[in-house]
Amino acid sequence: MTVVATTCPYCGVGCGVMATPDGMGGAKIEGDRHHPANRGRLCSKGAALGETLSLEDRLLYPEIDGQRVSWDAALDHVAAGLRTVIAQHGPDAVAFYVSGQLLTEDYYAANKLIKGFLGTANIDTNSRLCMASSVAGHKRAFGSDTVPGLYEDFEQADLVVLVGSNLAWCHPVLFQRLDAAKRARPRMKVVVIDPRRTETCDIADLHLALRPGSDVALFNGLLTELHQRGATAADFVAEHTAGLDAALAMASAGDAGTCGLSAADLALFFDWFAKTERTVTLYSQGVNQSTAGVDKVNAIINCHLLTGRIGRPGMGPFSITGQPNAMGGREVGALSNALAAHMDFAPADLDRVGRFWGTSRLASKPGLKAVDLFDAVGRGEIKALWIMATNPVASMPNADAVRAALAACDLSIVSEAVRASDTVDACRVRLPALAWAEKEGTVTNSERCISRQRPFLPAPGEARPDWWIIAEVARRLGYGDAFAWTGPADIFREHAALSAFENEGTRDFDIGAYATLDDAGYGCLAPFVWPAPTKAAATGGRFFGGGDFFHVDRRARFVGTPVRPPEHAPDPEHPLRLNTGRVRDQWHTMTRTGKSVRLAGHRPEPTVDLHPLDAAARNLRTGDIAELRSRWGRAVFKVHVSDAVRPGDIFAPMHWTAQLSRSSKVNAAVNPAVDRLSGQPELKHTPVQVLKLPVC
Ligand code: SF4
Repeated sequence: MTVVATTCPYCGVGCGVMATPDGMGGAKIEGDRHHPANRGRLCSKGAALGETLSLEDRLLYPEIDGQRVSWDAALDHVAAGLRTVIAQHGPDAVAFYVSGQLLTEDYYAANKLIKGFLGTANIDTNSRLCMASSVAGHKRAFGSDTVPGLYEDFEQADLVVLVGSNLAWCHPVLFQRLDAAKRARPRMKVVVIDPRRTETCDIADLHLALRPGSDVALFNGLLTELHQRGATAADFVAEHTAGLDAALAMASAGDAGTCGLSAADLALFFDWFAKTERTVTLYSQGVNQSTAGVDKVNAIINCHLLTGRIGRPGMGPFSITGQPNAMGGREVGALSNALAAHMDFAPADLDRVGRFWGTSRLASKPGLKAVDLFDAVGRGEIKALWIMATNPVASMPNADAVRAALAACDLSIVSEAVRASDTVDACRVRLPALAWAEKEGTVTNSERCISRQRPFLPAPGEARPDWWIIAEVARRLGYGDAFAWTGPADIFREHAALSAFENEGTRDFDIGAYATLDDAGYGCLAPFVWPAPTKAAATGGRFFGGGDFFHVDRRARFVGTPVRPPEHAPDPEHPLRLNTGRVRDQWHTMTRTGKSVRLAGHRPEPTVDLHPLDAAARNLRTGDIAELRSRWGRAVFKVHVSDAVRPGDIFAPMHWTAQLSRSSKVNAAVNPAVDRLSGQPELKHTPVQVLKLPVC
């Protein structure tokens, strides 16, 4: 049997997988002992990948209005529809909504078509929902969207601070690595900052169950304390940063006592942070998914800049991404406010990308971010929407409004591997895409490690690669020369070449030989970190250990971070705060993990966690059925009474959809407020009421 080295398609840890096809459409799945992210480990989801490979529920043929059509007919229809919309309403009447599930090559192709040749930047990715606040925070602080550290920093740290992250369930292999390191090095301490007591707290020396949304107040308080205690790295701050005084003035105006923590816990956390040189602060959706998400990110980074703890072994701020290729999307510009190769819409960047792609139709300004994009569809301003590999009718906030917007859209297109999802149901043109086991390309994990995804099962039916579908539409629109790729290796080389194009001396990235990699080299490409600093040897491949940030003066910026409450406060009608997130054994909207009986055993049905005091006030017991009602919608869940949530808070999983359970789509109730800088929705704070429903 041939064993194929590929990469897990779920979370941002990016574990290597060895797949051995069984000749009957299945495969044995094992962890790749040689992959640097996991060294043979897999979590429950990764280990069950072999149980998700069946062709049941696959979209196998192109369809228009529910009728099977040929590929030529479908592609002609899409190209003609896009051409008509642009001719009648202009390029900004077209939009793409793409996904962190796409491979980098697919992402690159979609971005090149819409920004480079359709003439609009109305392309956004579902990664907007998981890490856009970190991207904006990085740019403010570092002058670029650069993750400074590596996974090994968690194992080398003496203090690991986890903020808004249930690492044990959402990034399990990284949690396993941290747990093993802590057992091997008893002096290592772990602090978990999360309103919920999650499974991650099992290894915590200190759990700070702060008031939801008070992270900025906490880290402003830490910055003030560090400065007062003389923990400032004076030389680093003087030589490599700017803006400390203003940031300190804003931070000291606040009060960490408003976080709802005991004075003793607060003092202990501040003391450990002040005294521990090797400190890593990892943060995830609890930080990012907030109307103050970017400020939360910068409040954390400020503390690392003050102490000079960045870019050296065992220290640094670290944003971990939710999806397998959120980072790849950041590299190729899948966010509506970015161009390819980490470039923005500055005149020099526009000139460079336009000349490299050989186009005069390059979008000249940023496009709409996800929530605004679907609002524009709903208002009829966007007439043609192409969705790739994601399920916004279930996953966007205010999700029923997204479904209504799609229903009103003149041309709704979806490229998908699955036959049935809330979004596939809502789109008129359905294009069958390859699934994980059939795809070929690359993904980039949270530590910037690029790994190959390799096919180990044949493409079923008429399913095609996403990049091929995009290139065929481009060809029909008259742009064939710019999309004349013969395979993903061509696209990868072009992506690498664009990163290198007229770039020497400006980005400090070691491009290496990837732009001229031949097909054989691409085929056997081993995982590697990219971009890496040219002075990698001095810092072990980390960025910023010696300063040298990407602002024009090469200095990092302290950013003043005002304390702001979440957008929508609880009120007498909606007195509870709804927090949403993942459970251990499901992924996104369950189109793949939902096929595994073993995975379903962990959480067989959707439940809402409710504190005993709030349950008693509503005469609710575990097992009762309750409706979550907000200003935006409602969802129904089985009640789970638990003191893991704070009084006044409730937690519900994001996975169940209208496809799976007619009424447990939690995003129907989630508010659509966004961070004003990043556009990331506030998925973790919606005022709701919980009402007991009679059991029929
Ligand atoms: Fe896949 Fe993430 Fe689990 Fe690794 S930790 S096996 S990448 S889901």
